[in-house]
Amino acid sequence: MFDELSDLYQQVILDHSKSPRNFRPLEQPSRTAQGHNPLCGDNITLYVRLEGDVIADITFQGSGCAISRASASLLTESLKGRRLAEVKPLFDRIHEMVTTGQVGDGDLGKLAVFAGVHKFPARVKCAILPWHAALAAVEGKGAPVSTETVNP
Ligand code: ZN
Repeated sequence: MFDELSDLYQQVILDHSKSPRNFRPLEQPSRTAQGHNPLCGDNITLYVRLEGDVIADITFQGSGCAISRASASLLTESLKGRRLAEVKPLFDRIHEMVTTGQVGDGDLGKLAVFAGVHKFPARVKCAILPWHAALAAVEGKGAPVSTETVNP
């Protein structure tokens, strides 16, 4: 299995899983959201500090596989400084990318490293988990999100 995944574990993913960025809790976050992927055992908590409708800071904590940790790390880098309204369109693009491999129009930056995940259906949920949590945080949902109750 790990031979098959070697394509997937590219340098960026390895780097972010070994040294996740923004891996700390926030004091007095504006929003928090928890995500759980029971199939793999990934658990993440996102912390968001808002200034108006801008994501002024975003961090995470949790445990999980290399893919979920790298995805959460890259998510925090990507979402910091964005407006809340940008999260859902970005979620939709990431979701499309990890399920079909299509990157679509416009530069996704480092997030594009997850395009290869679509070849490994069991890993899609690991990659998308932090994005479900981000969406829950944006929408102000208090309940933890599970990859088994959302698509996919
Ligand atoms: Zn996982």
